[in-house]
Amino acid sequence: MMGRQSGGQEKLFYSFNLEDHVPENHLLRGIDRYLDLSDLRKHLSAFYSHTGRPSIDPELMIRMLIIGYSLGIRSERRLCEEVHLNLAYRWFCRLGLEDKVPDHSTFSKNRHGRFRESEAFRHLFETVLKQCMAEGLVSGEGFAIDASIIKSDARSDHSLPGNEPINWKDDVRSTRAVKEYLTALEEENSVATIPKRISLTDPATRWTCAPGGPAFFAYSTNYLIDIDAGIIVDVEATPANRSDEVNSTKTMIDRVEERFNVKPHHLIGDTAYGTAPMLSWMIEDKQIEPHVPVWGKSKRDDGTFSNSDFTFDPDLDRYTCPMGNHLNTTGRATSDNYILYRSKNLECIDCPAKSICCPKTPNRKISRSIHEQSRDVARALSKTDAYKQSRKDRKKVEMLFAHLKRILKLDRLRLRGLSGAQDEFLLAATAQNLRRMAQWCTPLPTKRVIGHA
Ligand code: SF4
Repeated sequence: MMGRQSGGQEKLFYSFNLEDHVPENHLLRGIDRYLDLSDLRKHLSAFYSHTGRPSIDPELMIRMLIIGYSLGIRSERRLCEEVHLNLAYRWFCRLGLEDKVPDHSTFSKNRHGRFRESEAFRHLFETVLKQCMAEGLVSGEGFAIDASIIKSDARSDHSLPGNEPINWKDDVRSTRAVKEYLTALEEENSVATIPKRISLTDPATRWTCAPGGPAFFAYSTNYLIDIDAGIIVDVEATPANRSDEVNSTKTMIDRVEERFNVKPHHLIGDTAYGTAPMLSWMIEDKQIEPHVPVWGKSKRDDGTFSNSDFTFDPDLDRYTCPMGNHLNTTGRATSDNYILYRSKNLECIDCPAKSICCPKTPNRKISRSIHEQSRDVARALSKTDAYKQSRKDRKKVEMLFAHLKRILKLDRLRLRGLSGAQDEFLLAATAQNLRRMAQWCTPLPTKRVIGHA
């Protein structure tokens, strides 16, 4: 018999409980279990006036942002619509059926105002990280570091070559991102290196070239993760260039040590982090084992002797060549912290190995970094089994970047300026840690978690 839907939508009174309509295995239930925002109001209290009209509850805005970044809803306008319509989102935001959802413009005002001044997103990230530590997901044994390029909200056709003079005082260009860039330049009290192109809307972003594709403006998100469970222990936004990315390692390692008293036994990274000063910093200053390939061009592949064919004697401070002659030095370091060792012309001129040692020069030169001892330690470590395991563990940080771009859809920034990028990266890293806790620690029978983006 064909049925007919009974009832209608005219009822005035309902017996309805939101809690009953959110599935037990919904992702947001897992996230809610590990999200403790009890400290948030205290953290923000100094940034609100004690008089006047009550503001939108900051916890509500933070909960809405967590939904947005956890489920790949990038537009705040769409986020407000989704929270209005979706029962699970209303439940997570502690909204009743008839409660009003804040207007999307509220986010922009708070983001540039109180949230940024109070570093609310860093507070949120660290609160979630503390919870990860309490759940035993951070061992502090091994950390991995890497950076990923994210396109910024800056069009290539609204830019100029870096060496062209630009009048930043022009009212048309007086945007928030431009003011932030000029303030940062003044504070650093330095002349920035001239980029190839400079964006007129977001000058802090860098013109960068992805392999095989056209160039674009971008920022880098730098992740420091604990390799046990792949928890992000720190995140830092930098312009998309190698030196800023590598320098952010020091900032993050020091910050994690200062805030949580956690310092890794070893640090895993790619060749970019294997420069001599960086290795020296890890070994000498921080006593961290570098599981990083040593950066250097000492290995030759043209059939001539490599530097490794020469033996160094630290006591006599000299090299010995394969023919048993010595390469000596004056001991003076070059401006880039290298010391030169040279063989004697008279010994080389009649040497039978000259054609495979220094065929185009009268003698052989070897430049040795003042941090060469640290490079030797890193080279020795690269032959251990622990290092081989670290090469595999490094993939965990790459997987987090893939997840960030494909699942959380953060392949292009919506906010401008370095602080805009920092806000977005902090929220996305917070969402990734919450999702990981929800999926790894939730005491539910193994079944499909719903609510994924
Ligand atoms: S060319 Fe000079 S440095 Fe090279 S192996 Fe011969 S003697 Fe030694």
